[in-house]
Amino acid sequence: EGVTEVRVAMTASKAAGPKLIAVGAGKGGVGKSTVSVNLAVALARMGHKVGIIDADIYGPSQPTLLGTSERPEAKDKQLIPVEVQGVKMLSVGQLVSPGHALAWRGPMASGALAQLVEGDWSGTEIIIVDLPPGTGDVQLSLIQKSRPVGAVVVSTPQDLSLIDARRAIDLFGKTSVPVLGIIENMAGYQCPHCGETSDPFGSGGAEAAAAEMGVPFLGRLPLSASLRAESDAGRPPAGGEGPAAAAFRTLAEAMLA
Ligand code: ADP
Repeated sequence: EGVTEVRVAMTASKAAGPKLIAVGAGKGGVGKSTVSVNLAVALARMGHKVGIIDADIYGPSQPTLLGTSERPEAKDKQLIPVEVQGVKMLSVGQLVSPGHALAWRGPMASGALAQLVEGDWSGTEIIIVDLPPGTGDVQLSLIQKSRPVGAVVVSTPQDLSLIDARRAIDLFGKTSVPVLGIIENMAGYQCPHCGETSDPFGSGGAEAAAAEMGVPFLGRLPLSASLRAESDAGRPPAGGEGPAAAAFRTLAEAMLA
């Protein structure tokens, strides 16, 4: 029923400003940022006016993933998102010098993230928020302040990641943010030489966990060398013509369904 509410909220009031969809993960390295940017690009291709907020204070990667080092300008102290590959973007990484670590404590991190959320998002319908991994105070206060209409949780099929993913789902539950679904990433690997598929992280775990927790399962993405290479090169494959583009479009549709 939470999902229905989101659908209603998304269609009902375009004038009421952009709807935020948070993308979280229980831990780092599961592909949360990769999934975030590709969902954003897929939604843009579907005709939505899309923004992305890179709130990952531990490793902001959206400028790299979108292939831009452009800095946002500010007007009346409000940040103006940079526009790249059909998506408007603000990243916490744009607020510090390149290569500098973000050694921010809670309040400072939350202040920086508030600047991103309060940027000039006029004309934007949907904003994907790439959350920091984990379920700490920074995530909690960001969720409370930005009030996303829904959340997506990314997990690998690995047990540990799933235990952490449960914590992320729990966090959204506690903050009354409907979980739109789980995306299982790095699920299965097809050998480019022999064609045989193997499951380095196990398989089916996320789908089973989703069923058990009563949240939708949106789909799975295989471990893919080309996905990694294109991501590193700043070309989200969702903007291309390959199988990954179709996969992300299907996930984006499932997310809004
Ligand atoms: P997170 O945001 O969860 O820390 P990232 O999106 O930064 O994770 O991904 C971590 C690394 O894994 C990156 O090098 C990324 O290119 C790679 N990666 C993510 N998803 C996949 C996938 N399905 N197949 C291959 N590599 C992937």
